[in-house]
Amino acid sequence: MIAYNQPLYRPPAEANSIIIQVTLGCSFNKCSFCSMYETKKFQIRTLEDIFLDIDKLSNYKDTRRVFLADGDALACETSFLIEVLKYLKLKFPKLQRVSSYASPFNLLEKKQEELNLLRECGLSLVYYGIESGNADLLKYVNKSIKLEKMILGLNKATKAKMKISATVILGLGGKNLSNEHIIQTAKLINECEHINYLSTLQLGLNSTKEDAFFKRFESKNSQFIFCSDKDMLEEQKNFISLLNPKKPIIFRSNHASNALPLKGTLPKDKNLLLELINMALENETLLRPHFLRAF
Ligand code: SF4
Repeated sequence: MIAYNQPLYRPPAEANSIIIQVTLGCSFNKCSFCSMYETKKFQIRTLEDIFLDIDKLSNYKDTRRVFLADGDALACETSFLIEVLKYLKLKFPKLQRVSSYASPFNLLEKKQEELNLLRECGLSLVYYGIESGNADLLKYVNKSIKLEKMILGLNKATKAKMKISATVILGLGGKNLSNEHIIQTAKLINECEHINYLSTLQLGLNSTKEDAFFKRFESKNSQFIFCSDKDMLEEQKNFISLLNPKKPIIFRSNHASNALPLKGTLPKDKNLLLELINMALENETLLRPHFLRAF
């Protein structure tokens, strides 16, 4: 076994994957809603240490999936990541999928040729936090980037033939910015060439982050008012009704933060999903109890 540097996070879909920490923490680590890596100072581990971890796990010869942690392994130099990917292929002959988180900034920084190379060497899926398509809201939460830039980065990954699993945070703009948040986020997704998987989370703040989170809104002359479950469902409803992607998207809201777990393929299942939301809006007993939720 290897001694992971804690806390360690991975997407729910990587529950059965081998996890290799290529970096520690997040190279950005400034988003006001996120406390995942607040206790870690970002660093890139040495190839020697990474290879040692791979060696320790290499007796799992049937390994098909590897997730590269922590927050954004894509912040590493391309040549460095290629060394890691090659070594993984060598040690796990049945490897089919390598994935990692990718921040909007990572995808923008990589050239198309670099992403192509990474894909050729095995990086086939990136997890990407869209959070919102609304540039003002992204400024308020200190993850400032324009919609056009996110589309550019995401389309580069698609062009490299990587799959994209993206997340959106319901309630991120509170009640006051709900409409802008949803309209711009749907627009972003509709304009992308292909988001393969899309999930929604519901905003939940760690108590250590709350004050700083609210203050950023106030500094922009806005007031943050938490969305109720009903508001979140209305956002979900608006969001899904506005989604008309260029290619089918596998949609999920099964993250533990969600009041209403949903799954389907968009746009095919749009009406069904909207019907389920309407039912939940009329009957709150269909919602996941609060004690079973976590962000
Ligand atoms: S949301 Fe992503 S980019 Fe922002 S601090 Fe958290 S891990 Fe880093």
